[in-house]
Amino acid sequence: MRAESKSYTGIDCFRMIAAVLIIAIHTSPLGTYSELGDFILTRVIARVAVPFFFMTSGFFLISRYSYKSDKFMMFLKKTALIYGAAILLYIPINIYNGYFKMENLLPNLIKDIVFDGTLYHLWYLPASLAGGALAWVLVRKSGFHRAFAVTAVLYLIGLFGDSYYGLAENVPVLGGFYTLWFQVSDYTRNGIFFAPVFFVLGGWIADAQTHIRPAVSWTMCIVMLLFMLAEGLLLHHFQVQRHDSMYFFLLPCMYFLFQALLSFRGKRHVWLRDVSLLVYSIHPMMIVVIRLAAKVLHLQTLLVENSIVHFLAVTVTSVSFSVAAAACWQRFGRRKNEQHKGADRAYIEINLDNLTHNVKVLREAMPPKCELMAVVKAQAYGHGMYEIAAHLDRIGVRAFAVATVEEGIALRRFGVRGELLILGCTPPERANELRRYDLSQTLVDYDYACRLNAQGVQVKAHIKLDTGMHRLGFWVPVESDTGKEVQKLSRVFAMKNLIINGIYTHLCVADSQDEKDILFTRQQIARFYKVVNRLKKQGIHIPKTHIQSSYGLLNYPELKCSYVRAGIALYGVLSTPDAQTKLHLNLKPVLSLKAQIVLIRKVRQGDSVGYGRDFVADRDSRIAIVSIGYADGLPRILSGRGHNVLINGQQAPIVGRVCMDQLAVDITALSNVSVGMTVTLIGRDGDREIAAPVVAEQAQSITNELLSRMGARVVVREI
Ligand SMILES: *Cc1c(COP(=O)(O)O)cnc(C)c1O
Repeated sequence: MRAESKSYTGIDCFRMIAAVLIIAIHTSPLGTYSELGDFILTRVIARVAVPFFFMTSGFFLISRYSYKSDKFMMFLKKTALIYGAAILLYIPINIYNGYFKMENLLPNLIKDIVFDGTLYHLWYLPASLAGGALAWVLVRKSGFHRAFAVTAVLYLIGLFGDSYYGLAENVPVLGGFYTLWFQVSDYTRNGIFFAPVFFVLGGWIADAQTHIRPAVSWTMCIVMLLFMLAEGLLLHHFQVQRHDSMYFFLLPCMYFLFQALLSFRGKRHVWLRDVSLLVYSIHPMMIVVIRLAAKVLHLQTLLVENSIVHFLAVTVTSVSFSVAAAACWQRFGRRKNEQHKGADRAYIEINLDNLTHNVKVLREAMPPKCELMAVVKAQAYGHGMYEIAAHLDRIGVRAFAVATVEEGIALRRFGVRGELLILGCTPPERANELRRYDLSQTLVDYDYACRLNAQGVQVKAHIKLDTGMHRLGFWVPVESDTGKEVQKLSRVFAMKNLIINGIYTHLCVADSQDEKDILFTRQQIARFYKVVNRLKKQGIHIPKTHIQSSYGLLNYPELKCSYVRAGIALYGVLSTPDAQTKLHLNLKPVLSLKAQIVLIRKVRQGDSVGYGRDFVADRDSRIAIVSIGYADGLPRILSGRGHNVLINGQQAPIVGRVCMDQLAVDITALSNVSVGMTVTLIGRDGDREIAAPVVAEQAQSITNELLSRMGARVVVREI
């Protein structure tokens, strides 16, 4: 969602500015005019360029939620390839410079390939590889706070081997450390000390989604740049610098610069990514070319000795060459990509803005200290567990519930934080996994609690009370006064391997407004609190309590618990179309189900369509074949009931039997329908909407079942 649905014009365009700043570093445009001016431009201001590239890569690649590493692996592969190509490209220049004649060639070659680059500017590529990989691992393993702390310390170590070296040089242990390090690499400005913190910072900005107002970020960026300038001039003046890539104020400056760039809205220019990388890679070649040309044409005074003209000549040739090369590349690349374009045959669209809206609405309906526990079992009710959970985590939901231990582990791997409750029964033998992934296990009865405790591993748990549903939970006969069962419960609280963080129950007729059902529900609630109060009387500290699921909140909003376990309502729908509830919340559906027309055919009156010849055309008809079937989650029972789908904002009935992968729709009455058009099976198209609860009812089921059975084959798209 991050990269596709927003515009990153500012970032795209700054890539070119950064590339030109790097040319400036290597050509010193002000060199012939002012030494100070040149220092300010190339040794201070232009130092934002390389960190900017690292941050951009981090922004698009490093995320605590990127559980799949393919995109990141692609980045590593591409960078390594470019690095390899660049090394080869510059071999002639290396030969000319006498590179291969140096002493200790092999160790130096290894050192250059791993850290410093075989030509001065190439260090950026191995630094990208090492810095990116380090940042990725740190963020995935320990989250942004720790990753930032670690990489910031690395940066600090780097700083004292770079701009602040003069201060560290003569300190006994420090000086020794840096002397040792400079045997390994010529600088500290590399993939270990310099790059990682910017990768982490870029990813952090992307994940945190906190946007600073443009005016504030620009002001802060300029203030930090001025501080950096003062820092650079001071260090320069006192001749502390060994090298001049790293400054203390570079970090805050980059943070605010990046935030400022994010405030630009407009068209994306992704192609500038390739152009800027090309400019970066080939400009040293252009420096050589310009020098050669100047020699041949006897124009050295103008083209080489005049620093501004030299800089401009290198910039113009590098940029022109890169634009031309990128254009060729894109043509070739585009042809390759087209094979993957075109609509997916059957897909779910999830609207994350609606999900955010529902979270807000539910929270407003909850009592003040109550927290939302998002129920994301069964692929988040068929919506795609990764997409839903990552978004909820990002917007600050800190409690989740799932049905199985596998789902719990998956959520942790997706990067989800906070309380994570398993509602079902996990084999006690898997206690180790519960602990390793910091999952809370539901204790379903006394015997189960004993077995889990006996595993010898400390595990977090919530006690479930059976207050009348008679599914999972401790049954506590509160009417009798034996107190035996309550004794058992208090024993569970004392078990040394169980950390009891919650106690809860589940209501079984909370969706009904029937008088009898309301009475039953009130009994369930009363029973729950009776047990809780008895435990309290025994001096037991009562952990977090929760009773309500979606309908529990909608019909019994007055309860004051620690959590509401919301499932179906979170997804913006109710179980049935005519649900009567006490609260009427303005929830918005998150999911749409869509497919496409793959074929339009004419059938004559009397022809049949599909299996069993159930549908026979009573007139000459046009039939659209749609690429979705019951294996994708559209119930077969909808066959032959005149159930409608939407095409082009118009209704059209399904005819014949729904197949495993296809279905047929009668479009005789529709105008302007063509192959490739989108068919909406659940969701909105123009003025019309097919609501999930209506489809569920037609299929003799409830929305919960319909959604959670969405096939594994459908693609999930975020909008
Ligand atoms: C599935 C489930 C929920 C969520 O129910 P909704 O009606 O979808 O809100 C809550 N609690 C338990 C125990 C569940 O199994």
